[in-house]
Amino acid sequence: MSQYDVIIVGGGPAGIFAALELAKASNLHVLLMEKGRDIDRRSCLVMDKGGRCPPCNPCHLVSGLGGAGAFSDGKLTLSPQVGGYLPEYLGWQKTQELIEYADSTYLSFGATNHVFSASSEVEEIQRRANLAELRLIPVDIRHVGTERSRQVLRAMRDFLKGKVEIRVDFPAASIIVEDGQLKGVETRSGERLECRYLIVAPGRDGSDWMVKEARRLKLTLHNNPVDVGVRVEVPVAVMAPVTDILYEAKLEYFSKTFDDRIRTFCMCPAGEVIVDSTGGDDPISTVNGHSYAEHKTNNTNFALLVSTNFTEPFNDPIGYGKYIARLANILGGGGVLVQRLGDLLEGRRSTLTRLERGIVQPTLKCATPGDLSCVLPYRFLKGIVEMLEALDKLLPGVASRHTLLYGVEVKFYSSRLELSQNLESEIPNLFAAGDGAGVTRGLMQASVSGVVAAREILRRVGADVAP
Ligand SMILES: Cc1cc2nc3c(=O)[nH]c(=O)nc-3n(C[C@H](O)[C@H](O)[C@H](O)COP(=O)(O)OP(=O)(O)OC[C@H]3O[C@@H](n4cnc5c(N)ncnc54)[C@H](O)[C@@H]3O)c2cc1C
Repeated sequence: MSQYDVIIVGGGPAGIFAALELAKASNLHVLLMEKGRDIDRRSCLVMDKGGRCPPCNPCHLVSGLGGAGAFSDGKLTLSPQVGGYLPEYLGWQKTQELIEYADSTYLSFGATNHVFSASSEVEEIQRRANLAELRLIPVDIRHVGTERSRQVLRAMRDFLKGKVEIRVDFPAASIIVEDGQLKGVETRSGERLECRYLIVAPGRDGSDWMVKEARRLKLTLHNNPVDVGVRVEVPVAVMAPVTDILYEAKLEYFSKTFDDRIRTFCMCPAGEVIVDSTGGDDPISTVNGHSYAEHKTNNTNFALLVSTNFTEPFNDPIGYGKYIARLANILGGGGVLVQRLGDLLEGRRSTLTRLERGIVQPTLKCATPGDLSCVLPYRFLKGIVEMLEALDKLLPGVASRHTLLYGVEVKFYSSRLELSQNLESEIPNLFAAGDGAGVTRGLMQASVSGVVAAREILRRVGADVAP
């Protein structure tokens, strides 16, 4: 039996920022448990060699030291407006302050200096967006880039070495609570690790585990919406009027037919479409995108996501999203689908020959040409086409017949745990942070959530806390 002051489950941005905070401010005995590999030993067949997703368990894309952030595009959104629900816990002002703090930490570990920020040109884009029934949410963004994201996370790991015990390939199997009191964690091999404080930050990959543990421990869970949609790929020139200024344009639209909220997400100028995985014990291939800071392609990609809030008696939004993603895998021979918008509107599947004739050549080579109307419910497809038509008024060419749609992109925002404003659960001294707790949806807020939990622990043990 081992004893720690603090155990952190999950080595993604939330877990790493919690560890950085604990390591800087005190000499507590801290263990960081990560079920995946060390950052240098993570290799994704699809990302590195362009192959098909095998899939691996755990998935190296979303699992391992650095978390899903290690291979991510590294777009740090510098506003509380997007990326999670933290303002509901901390208030707007405090969230903004902590974003600035986390941003300065990223900078000190080597993130790029340049920030794409709102300027007077943005007002003009906003005006034109409104004329097309779109709402633009201007957000400052620091783009680290996929290759540099890994370097930054590696530098954080090196800083932590010797200050925090880091164990990789080391999954937590269950949270130990006895007589309502937190005792520690049991590993998959049955080892009992005791601690005074526990921060669980298992990310999207560990969200099934988180829900299972929460139900076992009778913790209150709230449903988050599920976002289902496609990744759109167009020539760089089509999106340049907004991406040159904002890097990422966060645009929102309410569909004419169903009044559903649809939004652009994760814009990757001159980037690549990639295969993503839902992770967990039963991984499903989905799509995502990224862009390198140095290596550029001729295409820009972004997601169009339709948000659905399910009501009683249904309470399995993650299961619903996975079901749709699995349909695309079944039709795509195990992988994801790609279709030209023109083919979709003509009611026919895309084929390799039709794709080759297109102006936009897919950056994701392993996607199977197919028919997304066999996968996505009418409501989602209709809303996506309506938003593409609206976008075409702002950015002519978006709704071209050559535009590529990849499917499906699904964002499972884990069920949200009932948490206090310090992110403590209903069990005293058990904290939850990041995407796996359902409170965040991106690198920046995930990082901030780790800081929040760590600072509360530091306050309770009477350690010095950074202002
Ligand atoms: C391809 C891609 C691109 C992205 N691009 C961006 C972007 O540009 N900007 C942005 O803001 N966000 C982006 N994201 C999202 C971002 O990466 C996540 O929001 C962020 O990493 C969440 O941080 P986290 O620490 O909560 O979880 P994660 O980063 O998912 O880390 C959780 C870690 O916990 C580990 N774990 C799970 N269960 C256990 C267990 N039982 N025991 C031990 N360890 C466990 C997992 O292996 C994982 O390493 C991207 C994601 C992907 C996949």
